[in-house]
Amino acid sequence: MAVTLDLSRRPSPAGPVPRMPAETPSLVGMTREEMGAALVGIGIPERQVRMRVGQIWHWIYVRGATSFDAMTNVAKELRAILADAFTLARPEIVTEQISRDGTRKWLLRFPPRGAGRPVEIETVYIPEEGRGTLCVSSQVGCTLTCSFCHTGTQTLVRNLTAEEILAQILVARDRLGDYPNALQATDGRIPSEGRLVSNIVMMGMGEPLYNFDAVKQALLIATDGDGLSLSKRRVTLSTSGVVPYIGRTGAEIGTMLAISLHAVRDDLRDILVPLNKKYPLKDLLAACRAYPGLSNARRITFEYVMLDEINDSLADARELVRLLKGIPAKINLIPFNPWPGSNYGCSSWDRIEAFAEVVNAAGYASPIRTPRGRDILAACGQLKSESERMRKRDRDALDAGALPLEAESDWAMRAMVAGHGED
Ligand code: SAH
Ligand code: SF4
Repeated sequence: MAVTLDLSRRPSPAGPVPRMPAETPSLVGMTREEMGAALVGIGIPERQVRMRVGQIWHWIYVRGATSFDAMTNVAKELRAILADAFTLARPEIVTEQISRDGTRKWLLRFPPRGAGRPVEIETVYIPEEGRGTLCVSSQVGCTLTCSFCHTGTQTLVRNLTAEEILAQILVARDRLGDYPNALQATDGRIPSEGRLVSNIVMMGMGEPLYNFDAVKQALLIATDGDGLSLSKRRVTLSTSGVVPYIGRTGAEIGTMLAISLHAVRDDLRDILVPLNKKYPLKDLLAACRAYPGLSNARRITFEYVMLDEINDSLADARELVRLLKGIPAKINLIPFNPWPGSNYGCSSWDRIEAFAEVVNAAGYASPIRTPRGRDILAACGQLKSESERMRKRDRDALDAGALPLEAESDWAMRAMVAGHGED
């Protein structure tokens, strides 16, 4: 199947989108209160602030404005004042890859914060029947060192800001042309049906609960009904098990939760997910049982990476079922995605199926998806660092809106990202 980029769905004006400058503050990622204070700071009268915040919010998150010029209901002089003080520019898209099945992967470069260097992260979009899921990063690298995860071999460079987390969603919408035409019919709100980016998973680089404040702020903005308006039931935060923040995630963010479990015994989980030494299975599962809002309609997903002869025996499967007893849960079996230098192999298809049978027999739907095509270089747990750099010629083509690189999609990535949250 040929890949085509549907330019008709691209937001206008066509051509390069302004890039995020290092110094100018962005209004993206600010709470309404912060934005109000920023507007007061440039002399906008207090009595206008609420209205202006509402307008700007709408332009940024509903319309996808990348410059103040687009804000036709804001006076020209004020637009110029705003443009002097703030930016709405996007990060640089270093590469964009599109696979035959529509999976897209962007390598984004953010300017330095303070004395730091520019950083790069990856964001992946996975379209499925009736929905599209964006896999978003929360950190550059990770402080944790899960032994099967490539991101874990990269030391943390820094936390992403709320702006940078949201920018990943905005860039995806830009590139997919995910802007509704008929806003009049919905009172200026993004309709819940027919969206290309309909679901979010915090399963890119990093441990979101080690960047709790920025992740919380970004997800509350992403689920704001007057903005991006994503349903909290379509947003899933994945954690390796930072127990003290699990309850706060439910109470303060209210999204769906996924736990990277991967082992059913502490001795093995200590090796696979070393954070287990700090927060062992007993504490982790207790935090899950107490997750605010948990019900049969709102289950926790337990991620289980299938590592050949390590955690994939039938005894492991039975223990998994026993451990999760009483927790409204889904189980997601993820085929291990090998990376150069990794010490594990992916379980054979027979072993995965046998494992899944035990889990299914206990009443859990545990979707494992058939491999489709060969891996592209980036994958869950190996995001960013192995990415192929786009040659200058391709980058120019991307800027000009021409057909970008084509790649096979990564089936393990799809298995991890797909199927989370409501349809
Ligand atoms: N840090 C968070 C979220 C990012 S990782 C967490 O650990 O939950 C997203 C998922 O990918 C996690 O379940 C993680 O364990 C899994 N993962 C990491 N490396 C992988 C690999 N090489 N193959 C398959 N899954 C992997
Ligand atoms: Fe970090 Fe998650 Fe990878 Fe563990 S699996 S090293 S927590 S990104």
